[in-house]
Amino acid sequence: ATVPTITLNNGIEIPQLGFGVYQVKPEETAQAVQTALEVGYRHIDTAEMYGNEAGVGEGIRNSGIPREEVFVTSKLNNGFHAHDDALRAFDGTLEALQFDHVDLFLIHWPLPGIDVDFVETWKAMEEIYASGRAKSIGVSNFSAHHLRKLHGETQVIPAVNQIEVHPYLAQDELRAFNAQHQIATEAWSPIAQGKVLDDPAILRVAQRVGKTPAQVTLRWHVQRGDIVFPKSVTRSRIEENFAIFDFELSEDDLREITALDRNERTGPDPDTFNYIP
Ligand code: NAD
Repeated sequence: ATVPTITLNNGIEIPQLGFGVYQVKPEETAQAVQTALEVGYRHIDTAEMYGNEAGVGEGIRNSGIPREEVFVTSKLNNGFHAHDDALRAFDGTLEALQFDHVDLFLIHWPLPGIDVDFVETWKAMEEIYASGRAKSIGVSNFSAHHLRKLHGETQVIPAVNQIEVHPYLAQDELRAFNAQHQIATEAWSPIAQGKVLDDPAILRVAQRVGKTPAQVTLRWHVQRGDIVFPKSVTRSRIEENFAIFDFELSEDDLREITALDRNERTGPDPDTFNYIP
């Protein structure tokens, strides 16, 4: 079974399942990306903050798969929100990847407490988009009120909002807000970095449908319409996480998983996180 695509608000298609490389060591990244591409993934999610963009570019080149067949996302690091810094950081991302464009470039965090307003940052993102070197632009970790501010003061609507979503943090309100504004939701830490995999309800659904806990959790995201990119450096898990398009969860299965929501983050709260490396 092939990976479905989601059409973004500018007409560009993104594979609904990708491969995330947060916490993949720089020296292991090229190999991990090559393995994912061999398994069939055609979408890689990296960030300048992860320190492994060079490995992502290398892994894609080593795979022999044409650049245009792989969807590549990277993100602006927190220290570079000022207009000129953002343009320079984006040049650095392309330089590290050794590509002439990325498919999607995101503001990694809104950083509401720093002295640069993310509206200024978004205006730099709009220039990058206009240059054609990012085929789409979006945001990450934006709340509804951050998005409303952008809507009020800028032109281009973000193609995606990449936020933490998993069964312990279902995010139904923010996902609905994104959808109302033609912003696709990308769910980061889709298996809560492994924390949901031994949950009794997840195990029950997994047993019922004859799939693994990771597979039913990822399938739950896909049936809700979100874009996911689980991370692993282990080939068997990279394969397992890819094999989610040959079965379906029932409405009851979906409800049982959504009922686990307890508003529990594994990562920082975007309204108070102002960390600059
Ligand atoms: P994840 O939910 O994908 O979990 C990854 C961990 O779960 C792995 O380290 C591995 O130990 C385990 N795992 C993976 N597959 C498994 C399987 N089949 N069975 C058992 N265990 C398994 O967590 P993540 O890496 O934090 O999130 C995925 C991606 O989301 C990242 O790589 C990154 O691309 C993105 N992300 C973005 C942000 C952001 O602020 N925008 C933050 C965190 C992550």
